[in-house]
Amino acid sequence: MTSSQIRKIPYTKPSITELEVEFATDAAANGWGEHCYDYIVRFEEAFKAHLGVKYAIATSSCTGALHMGMHALGIGPGDEVIMADTNWIATAAPIVHLGATPVFVDILPDSWCLDPEQVEAAITPNTKGIVAVHLYGNLCDMNALLAIGERYGIPVIEDAAEAVGSVYHGKRAGSMGRFGAFSFHGTKTITTGEGGMFVTNDPDLYEQVLTLSNHGRARGQSKQFWPDMVGFKYKMSNIQAAIGCAQMQRIEILTRVKRGIFAMYQDYLKDLPIRMNPEPEGCTNGYWMPTFVVEDSIPFNRDELIDALKAKGVDARVFFWPLSSTPAGGRKALDKAYLSESIHLRALNLPSHHNLSDEDAFFISNIAITYLTSNFSPGIS
Ligand SMILES: *Cc1c(COP(=O)(O)O)cnc(C)c1O
Repeated sequence: MTSSQIRKIPYTKPSITELEVEFATDAAANGWGEHCYDYIVRFEEAFKAHLGVKYAIATSSCTGALHMGMHALGIGPGDEVIMADTNWIATAAPIVHLGATPVFVDILPDSWCLDPEQVEAAITPNTKGIVAVHLYGNLCDMNALLAIGERYGIPVIEDAAEAVGSVYHGKRAGSMGRFGAFSFHGTKTITTGEGGMFVTNDPDLYEQVLTLSNHGRARGQSKQFWPDMVGFKYKMSNIQAAIGCAQMQRIEILTRVKRGIFAMYQDYLKDLPIRMNPEPEGCTNGYWMPTFVVEDSIPFNRDELIDALKAKGVDARVFFWPLSSTPAGGRKALDKAYLSESIHLRALNLPSHHNLSDEDAFFISNIAITYLTSNFSPGIS
């Protein structure tokens, strides 16, 4: 392989086979009238079984699932919801839309997920929720967070959008909190194009969200077109659910491929002064997105490396910005320098679409190795 070679390597891309096409075609041809919910029900059942939870509601997005779940928990104006500063905006937006305030705590240096000690320090009488986001597939310290939630009577919500395939001491990410939310956006490990899932083991919360998800129409209501409350319209279509059903049949392979891609990078990059997504004892990382963080002692310019990759056709992505520096609103919980404010400048997400080959991983890794070794050890190439 020559260094002048250029490849077109996207950072993510859905894995669509004839099965997805077959199911979607069937839904488009036949999934109407009395069959208009068939694939939705099937998708919810399959997802519930996979996750080991009692209830699931397919939604139009993870953001919508979070919005409805937080609304059902009574989160509203004047309330505070604690979450990590390093995050995608989708977790904070529903909090802001409900009139509540996202309160950002710093992340842990190993998992890049929220620090339980800082969560506890950030609790006030107005705290109505803690959102555990399993970043890039890395698992939050759920034992510590659930213990804090229990001690203070505050629900712990799991945003598991990036954590399909991640398992925490025998429990799947998204199944441990008061409710969990998933995303099936085209960039995620399993996809329906756009889409999401609300999951819970709480029967009351399930009924509330089910009603909210159907424009406030309770399922026992016999009066037609009668809303019992003002709800939302965040439903998934049967055609999207058909694609989801096919993805669920392939979920073992789809998550195994993600782990395989991570392992290739980990092997090729093993001599670099970097840290990659951790997999603590007793946990399985779904490795949605292979990420590395360069040690502080090594000169590193993120944008230079992104440009070097782009010049060879490789689409790498930046680590999430600290939300406290964006228009997300909210505020930092503690008045101090956060790791979230500097880590994104020393980190990078590598491509991990399902068809990424070993050759691709080798090609990409070599660009990173060439760039990094020229910085920390001139002469080696
Ligand atoms: C992708 C993502 C979301 C949003 O998912 P949508 O389905 O696009 O609403 C929420 N949270 C996290 C952590 C995500 O990565």
